[in-house]
Amino acid sequence: MSRETPIIQIKEGKESSLRRFHPWVFSGAISGVTEMPQNGEWVKVVDSKRKFLGAGHYQEGSISVRILSFQDLPCDDDFWKMKLANAWKVRQTGIGLSPDTNMFRWVHGEGDGLPGLIIDVYDTVVVIQPHTLGMEQNAEHIAKAVESVFAGVKAIYLKPSEKQLSSPPRYLKGEKVNVECKEHGIRYAVDWETGQKTGFFIDQRENRKLLGTLANGKKILNTFCYSGGFSLTALQGGAIHVDSLDSSQQALDLTLQNVELNKVDKAKHQVIKADAVEYIKTVATDYDIIVLDPPAFAKHLSARHKAVQGYRKINEAAIRKIKPGGLIFTFSCSQAIDKETFKGAVMAAAIDARRPVRILHQLHQPADHPVSLFHAEGEYLKGLVIEVQ
Ligand code: SAH
Repeated sequence: MSRETPIIQIKEGKESSLRRFHPWVFSGAISGVTEMPQNGEWVKVVDSKRKFLGAGHYQEGSISVRILSFQDLPCDDDFWKMKLANAWKVRQTGIGLSPDTNMFRWVHGEGDGLPGLIIDVYDTVVVIQPHTLGMEQNAEHIAKAVESVFAGVKAIYLKPSEKQLSSPPRYLKGEKVNVECKEHGIRYAVDWETGQKTGFFIDQRENRKLLGTLANGKKILNTFCYSGGFSLTALQGGAIHVDSLDSSQQALDLTLQNVELNKVDKAKHQVIKADAVEYIKTVATDYDIIVLDPPAFAKHLSARHKAVQGYRKINEAAIRKIKPGGLIFTFSCSQAIDKETFKGAVMAAAIDARRPVRILHQLHQPADHPVSLFHAEGEYLKGLVIEVQ
């Protein structure tokens, strides 16, 4: 028999963020518990007068509870189905995904009222990525909801994020199948088992498209290329030459595989195995466009200063080397670095490089990575397209 749901009480004055639908309960806000919850357990959160505030998963740490419901609902199969159906509906009605794209994010954590859960769709394959123990422990229920909402699903792969090592990755439905993944009509080999994250950086879809529209006749350097998405979109858009750079051979092999899949003229494309900053700094370049899409330099607030220096350094190198009138697509996917801080780092880079720079586009994550208005931290992907004179 399952025991009573533990109830967590919040200190007086600490409930206002929850009333504004911010989904995190910090450990310092807790005044007491009816019974010590286990990691991953479903708990109810009440205010100092014992009025219900929300329910969600408990996990020891600075964020003690992630709220999944601001209504007093049980965490049963109907709950998961309702949550996944809501998220599915907005992907059908509010995203504007073109028919030549069959990869999208179905559930984006806090942005879908499901902190700790990522679900990505690769045609008929669904990848569930739990980031909390609560989500991991509910994987079977979540998979059941996936099946009931998405009738066409052929395989469901559970891929716990690296720090959640309590269960191994595995198929909860079907097995490895070959699917043809497409974005803007470009074909990609996606390996959700061995690839980074859930297999593909879906979040750059619209930004790749923008590069495609600006690429005609241009020579382009795509640094941190991973599976080559920016490169292929640029080539599709008429780039005369693209160099794809990454420090990982696996990434470069994947890029080459994707170049092959799309029957691109190989004379127009080259891979470079190097450290991005070193390459840009030391090589004589004549690029019209440079893409800088590094991995998250700051995973936590404590690493923010170092991360800002990292962004400054790489942007300075690119600003110094780009052709006059050239464009730089520069990104940060660090949640701990906000838009203004990132802009400041790029400005510092431009000052050091002593070149006039204008911002042409301000970029962000696409609509299938929604941001709760009450959880600004969810706005993690920031980008600028700058013109360097
Ligand atoms: N732009 C990619 C995603 C980038 S992910 C896309 O559109 O899919 C970040 C990539 O940076 C990874 O492939 C990783 O191997 C690479 N990387 C990490 N550190 C690097 C460095 N110092 N120099 C070059 N590449 C690096």
